[in-house]
Amino acid sequence: MTATVSSERISLSIERPALYVVATPIGNLADISYRAVTLMAQMDMLLVEDTRMTQRLLQHYSLTARLVALHEHNEADIVGGIISRVVSEGLAVALLSDAGTPLIADPGFRLVRAAREKEIPVFSVPGPCAAIAALSIAGLPSDRFAFEGFLPPRKTARVRRLRLLLAEQRTMIFYEAPHRVLATIDDMHAVYGSEREVVVARELTKLHETLYCGPLGTVSAAMRCDENAARGEIVIVLSGAKDEDLTATGDEHKARQMVDILSHQMPKADAIKLVAEWTGLKRNRVYRLAHGDQSEN
Ligand code: SAM
Repeated sequence: MTATVSSERISLSIERPALYVVATPIGNLADISYRAVTLMAQMDMLLVEDTRMTQRLLQHYSLTARLVALHEHNEADIVGGIISRVVSEGLAVALLSDAGTPLIADPGFRLVRAAREKEIPVFSVPGPCAAIAALSIAGLPSDRFAFEGFLPPRKTARVRRLRLLLAEQRTMIFYEAPHRVLATIDDMHAVYGSEREVVVARELTKLHETLYCGPLGTVSAAMRCDENAARGEIVIVLSGAKDEDLTATGDEHKARQMVDILSHQMPKADAIKLVAEWTGLKRNRVYRLAHGDQSEN
């Protein structure tokens, strides 16, 4: 079934039955669309992750609404009942996350899927998304990108996942918890080398918005010196592998990693000399690998 979308340039009309997927602010309460505010006031029900969080938003805009909790722990159980009511009572309901766009590292997939299966029209009311906000200011290639969401919390699984992404050439976007961000940046440093470019976006749209930008080695060191680096909400934007990275042999990858590791203990020039002797690679080749230039010779 194809949903009919209004061709008017500005449409604030509501369909019934329908499901509206509404993006909400990721920090700055002013970051919500006019359409989202207008629409929330007219909904029969708002399906929300945390009723207290949504109440705060509603109060800010002097709105009242019927709130029903839908979160990762109850979504599977309640979706069937909600969909039945939407159909039988002809309801217009909206799905909201605590922050940002529903379904993006947030609940809602089962609901949207179930609505589509019952041919209930599903409409997007677009707005903030931390991943897109970070990408849009990172200054890293944005023509193609991969959203990776949260990495595994345990180090072994996280490093395995990062290794699987070694050949990914698109810019990658990760969400990370503040208490893990330094460990994750260190793991990225170990896997991708010190020269791979990264942007760590902290507290976007909020009072303490901070960006750490540069090669992984520099960003890792800078974040370790900042006592606030591991606070607040964080998006990591990592540049993809370059063509040259993919043509480096396994030995060359290892040589680069060895230089990175040894450079923590000795001057980089000494590390390059040692690794060249150890691997039998030419010293200027190791130098180029260590500095991100992987061209032959
Ligand atoms: N659905 C949301 C979206 O559209 O961005 C994401 C929800 S996910 C559960 C929460 C994660 O998003 C946080 O742990 C953090 O990685 C990221 N995030 C949310 N708000 C942020 C902000 N203001 N600044 C930086 N990262 C943010």
